[in-house]
Amino acid sequence: MPFSYYARLTRAQQRVYRRSDEIGAVPLRAPAAAQPMVEALERALATGERGRVEAAAQLLLDRLTSALGVPPLRAEVLAARPSRDWGELHGLYTPAERGGRARVTLWMRTAQQRRVVGFRTFLRTLIHELCHHLDYELFALPDSFHTQGFYRRESSLIRQLVGGASRGNAALALDLVGAGRRGSRPAADCPARAQEEAASGGFSGEKEKMVQGVIPGME
Ligand SMILES: [Zn+2]
Repeated sequence: MPFSYYARLTRAQQRVYRRSDEIGAVPLRAPAAAQPMVEALERALATGERGRVEAAAQLLLDRLTSALGVPPLRAEVLAARPSRDWGELHGLYTPAERGGRARVTLWMRTAQQRRVVGFRTFLRTLIHELCHHLDYELFALPDSFHTQGFYRRESSLIRQLVGGASRGNAALALDLVGAGRRGSRPAADCPARAQEEAASGGFSGEKEKMVQGVIPGME
């Protein structure tokens, strides 16, 4: 069963959606090799120091992109999450432009209390944004939609990195795909709002669109 916005996609987008939905896992050849980077990220987050968190996130992303044979990503870690009436922004994927690197932006503090976010939430956001990169670079999809397959891929990576079943209760997560341009391809994101906008022609590619999605298993 596709998400409800599927009905509003164009035929071409629906084909991309179905391809995305069919891919249920991202197997890592040697997940244990990433373990030290995952643990270092948890320790860095516990210090609350932005620079250390960013460096640790970069090392983990370097390890994962190299293990998966995709172009590297730049990690950018910022302090308090942007928030408005729609909630708080957790992460952002900005596709590469003009030979530059694609970028993952992560926020490490809550908007209101300025508390450092939980490690599982932070890691899941990092993996979520990596999964957008993999849609383009590993699976050669022209768009990166939030499909059930997308969330299964995200969960499969989390399980390989930290073990355990993903959490059962769904929570709200927010992310944003910047600038919406990856070469000539639009970077569609977003299950709920922005993909509705995409389906209705409102996802122009130049403007940044706020997206809001339910990520199953997110704490
Ligand atoms: Zn997303």
